[in-house]
Amino acid sequence: MIYLDNAATTPVHPEALKAAWPWLTSEFGNPSSTHELGRRAAVALSDARSAVATWLDCRPNEVVFTSGGTEGDNLAIMGLALANPRGRHIVSARTEHEAVLASIDALVRLHNFAVSWLPVSPTGEVTLADVSAALRPDTTLVTLMLANNEIGTIHPIAAISELAHSVGALMHTDAVQAGGWLDTRVSTLGVDALTLSGHKLGAPKGSGVVYIRGSLAVEAILHGGGQEFERRSGTENVAWAVAFASAISHLASLGQEGPRVAALRDAFIESVALAIPRAHLTGPTLDPASTPVRHPAIASFTFAGLNGETLLLELEQKDIIVSSGSACAAGSTDPSHVLLAVGMEPDVAQASVRFSFSHNTTQEDLRQTVAALASAVASVTSLAN
Ligand code: PLP
Repeated sequence: MIYLDNAATTPVHPEALKAAWPWLTSEFGNPSSTHELGRRAAVALSDARSAVATWLDCRPNEVVFTSGGTEGDNLAIMGLALANPRGRHIVSARTEHEAVLASIDALVRLHNFAVSWLPVSPTGEVTLADVSAALRPDTTLVTLMLANNEIGTIHPIAAISELAHSVGALMHTDAVQAGGWLDTRVSTLGVDALTLSGHKLGAPKGSGVVYIRGSLAVEAILHGGGQEFERRSGTENVAWAVAFASAISHLASLGQEGPRVAALRDAFIESVALAIPRAHLTGPTLDPASTPVRHPAIASFTFAGLNGETLLLELEQKDIIVSSGSACAAGSTDPSHVLLAVGMEPDVAQASVRFSFSHNTTQEDLRQTVAALASAVASVTSLAN
């Protein structure tokens, strides 16, 4: 199998599973218990937290373990907006993940917030001038993702954070797709909150982390025993926290794999363009001088007149696993909201196929994929005519 759907999910790294195993079996203590079994679990949790804090360049008490990206986005956006009532205005873009869009929607429906949706270019770019223009005296929060999960557009988060802070607003970034690929240190990005999901970087589904700057007030979503510094109640999932820390330590050891994969991605995009003239690359162009910049491991195309799902099934028959649009909308076959937001027509937005690579993806994997895609497009085209 050639698995090119890593933006949907990744396999659990064997080392992460190995690290988690004792905390699921013999070392099953509750970290809040005062007996020895509990104390050992508390130490494991604290070590995992310190490892994540080192990776993100923040303090351990700014790291909250969550059940994944969706929870992290909800907690950061709703928790910060409700607890820091500078006003009831949020700035964001319609290319964000559903977890962000739905959190904002809840603030609008339940708490009377207003939203300024930033204009988005055909490549998924938002401009600093538009961010500046959208900021108001009552803006509480700006939330923009670091890298888009469908078209790979990277936002200049450090510069946007500066703008948000210049008017006193907070800045959150959904870094779920960036984790392991881009610099996610909060010191570099200058954000007040940042979301990560474990299953995109070799940890289990249902694991995740949200960074929230230490001094900030957060309205918790889960109320209870006050775990995770009163920010996220519930008995901590020690095993998944340990697995998360193990997965990121493995990523840190990969060194130059990111640039290698980015070079493969560029060669792949060029080969697809040559082999399939009707393929249209979504998101940033290949021109290195142009902005915005593209995620190293995401390339997505539309194929005018063809159905993305049909292409996906053709590829699957050849044991090549990809996705059409985003797999995060619970199996939805609606046109991608991201492609609609960048101005594509619904029929074109329905014909998208996303290839997302891993650190292990090889040149040979991609050579076979281009050949299979060309033949899939040819066979679907002949059926359509
Ligand atoms: N944010 C982005 C950008 C994503 O791509 C995803 C999942 O695909 C999520 C949030 C949700 O993460 P999780 O599946 O861990 O809830």
